[in-house]
Amino acid sequence: MSRAFNFCAGPASLPTAVLERAQQELLDWNALGVSVMEISHRSAPFIEVAEAAEHNLRRLLNISQDYAVLFMQGGATAQFSFIPLNLQRGFGRAAYIDSGHWSSQAIEVARKFTDVEVIASTQGQGYSRAPYQEELDLSSKFDYVHYTPNETIGGVEFDYIPDTQGMPLVADFSSSILSSALDVSKFDLIYAGAQKNIGPSGLCLVIVKRALLESTTASGYLPEVFNYRAVDQASSMLNTPPTFAWYLSGLVFEWLLAQGGVTAMEAINAAKAKKLYSYIDQSEFYRNPIEVHHRSKMNIPFTLPDKALETAFLDGANKRNLLNLKGHRSVGGMRASLYNAVPEEAVDALVEYMQQFKQQHI
Ligand code: PMP
Repeated sequence: MSRAFNFCAGPASLPTAVLERAQQELLDWNALGVSVMEISHRSAPFIEVAEAAEHNLRRLLNISQDYAVLFMQGGATAQFSFIPLNLQRGFGRAAYIDSGHWSSQAIEVARKFTDVEVIASTQGQGYSRAPYQEELDLSSKFDYVHYTPNETIGGVEFDYIPDTQGMPLVADFSSSILSSALDVSKFDLIYAGAQKNIGPSGLCLVIVKRALLESTTASGYLPEVFNYRAVDQASSMLNTPPTFAWYLSGLVFEWLLAQGGVTAMEAINAAKAKKLYSYIDQSEFYRNPIEVHHRSKMNIPFTLPDKALETAFLDGANKRNLLNLKGHRSVGGMRASLYNAVPEEAVDALVEYMQQFKQQHI
């Protein structure tokens, strides 16, 4: 059996070695005669899995004990609500930077819980770049400043970390966490849905500065399972967590460490993205609309010269086992997601196919 090259934006490709190990261990995990999905989350062997996953994540991103690492449920979307509910610091308003689809979603949800001020937006530029630092209006005091470092759908990635003049910085790293080196100490809260660079869906990581949690007045109505402080105190086990997703994420962290960690991934990912963008730019057939310095290394949207060619392009790609290249319905065109588990050979195969397709259609 051959594995296809999978360019899905999420749930996305997982490392083959990780899937093979999970397969090997599936029926008889840890010599217990049952799978990891069939034991109590409070049993000693599972606690060991849970703690090892957190430990390895801390190693990968050099996360100090000043930060809590929470394994939560409800995806990144649930965090759109949990953040304004948890991070109340008495100002009654939060700042959001709008750089595309996912930051807009976060804004829409946050408005239900707090006053939201959009302190910069590139909607007027068709989200062809992220807002620049000089464009951020930080003249008021906010409970926090939220942004989306990598817009999964638009393919826009910030090339800087916003300076918030001391206000807590909150970032949705769903589609770029663990893809490159990251200085966690520059952030107050990082969250990321698992199903791209972490593991299977069902899990959302939250890395949050404990001092921030201590300074907040969380809403009295906040259910325990959504309350960061309560989740931290219970080591993310207030109730039954998604144990299989946690276990598999742990295997991905081990795999990442074996690859050389995030610095090694950063070099590989930069090479993969460069290959595809260079080909697109010189092709005079395919096009990527994003300003060069804000192009995403994880999600690369591109268009063909004629929309009528899209079905033929996708059909031909599927025949070559190049899967899930259709762009998001809100922007159309194509999109190749090049997460950690997508090997460089996948990009080579895609570029080769793109060249052939172009030859046949110019
Ligand atoms: N934020 C970003 C940047 C995303 O890419 C996604 C999902 N693609 C979400 C939020 C929503 O994630 P979920 O489906 O896990 O709620």
